[in-house]
Amino acid sequence: MASNRSLLILPGDGIGPEVMGQVRRVVDWLGMAKGVSFEVEEDLVGGAAIDAHGVPLTDATMDKALGVDAVLLGAVGGPKWDNLDFSIKPERGLLRLRKDMELFANLRPAICFNALTEASSLKPDIVGGLNIMIVRELTGGVYFGEPRGIEDLPNGERRGINTQVYTTSEIRRVARVAFDLAGKRDGRVTSAEKANVMESGILWREEVQWVHDNEFPNIELDHMYADNCAMQLVRAPKQFDVIVTDNLFGDLLSDAAAMLTGSLGMLPSASLGAPDATGKAKAMYEPVHGSAPDIAGQGIANPIATISSFAMALRYTFDLGSEADLVEQAIENVLASGKRTGDIMQAGMTKISTEEMGTAIVAELDKLAAR
Ligand code: NAD
Repeated sequence: MASNRSLLILPGDGIGPEVMGQVRRVVDWLGMAKGVSFEVEEDLVGGAAIDAHGVPLTDATMDKALGVDAVLLGAVGGPKWDNLDFSIKPERGLLRLRKDMELFANLRPAICFNALTEASSLKPDIVGGLNIMIVRELTGGVYFGEPRGIEDLPNGERRGINTQVYTTSEIRRVARVAFDLAGKRDGRVTSAEKANVMESGILWREEVQWVHDNEFPNIELDHMYADNCAMQLVRAPKQFDVIVTDNLFGDLLSDAAAMLTGSLGMLPSASLGAPDATGKAKAMYEPVHGSAPDIAGQGIANPIATISSFAMALRYTFDLGSEADLVEQAIENVLASGKRTGDIMQAGMTKISTEEMGTAIVAELDKLAAR
């Protein structure tokens, strides 16, 4: 029987296809062991699409992305395509997906698995068991605001200009994503801005408060200045559940939070659009890391960030929370057993390949399912 859950897999370049191969094994396992099946299509993006079609994303692939429940992307880019014109670089494929799918909310969880607390630059008791979610506004703010540019002044100086600008609807829709997520987690949202020095920050604070009071009164909300939020993230990160913030502050805060947990090879992400009439939002899931050309083709990349991105798809697009828990538990158990890819290797642990990590996670899924 055809599945009613559709997934478009875009492995991309470099280690993308290697790590995505391990995700396919988890997808297949869910079908066989749990009867949870997906209609999976695979296509090209980035350098791979440039080589085959001359563009980083064809219209046909874009149409497919718009038609499925979720897109799962590996990574794009590499030295082979570095000298191409900006308009057809591999990254343009990614930008087009984000733009045409209108993905305005970027979700970056920072989860510190107990087995990896030693890999963090912070003390184990500060990060052990950490599980926070940063929701970053992705399509507005100072990265896109007009006017922008560099101009020559009559006195011979130059002036660089960018504009921080947000509207009511842009703030409210990303706030709704954050409150909605908090409802599926610990029920707490912290909104970060600079209302003390920026009018756009005052508006941000007022509109987030409005969404809370009118639509999510049962979620706990507090407001924090973004600089204090950065400080609190490295002082006592476990105080947070969901942090919602704008494009610029989110760029910085999510990178800082990411490093609380150790390696790039562990970090998943999701980008969501507005829900349609049926309540379903367009969504793309991808690891935070890039195509890692320095290790591509060696079979040593860590597939956990990409497998965790698929777990996010299970939870947020397909409403399969217990299956997502199962996948995350399998990852936790494999790490606890001492198996490590090179990027998270520690003394006394067993170093394994990309493929072996996939095998270990599937074996752990088998054990968990048999309980
Ligand atoms: P990168 O994330 O690809 O790699 C940074 C470092 O982390 C490298 O040493 C790499 O080996 C290591 N690393 C990354 N992922 C890993 C994994 N899963 N397992 C083990 N080690 C891992 O960043 P970069 O080197 O700055 O960029 C390389 C290419 O990727 C560039 O072409 C860049 O434009 C592109 N890029 C793409 C994306 C994306 O597709 N979303 C994001 C960032 C960079």
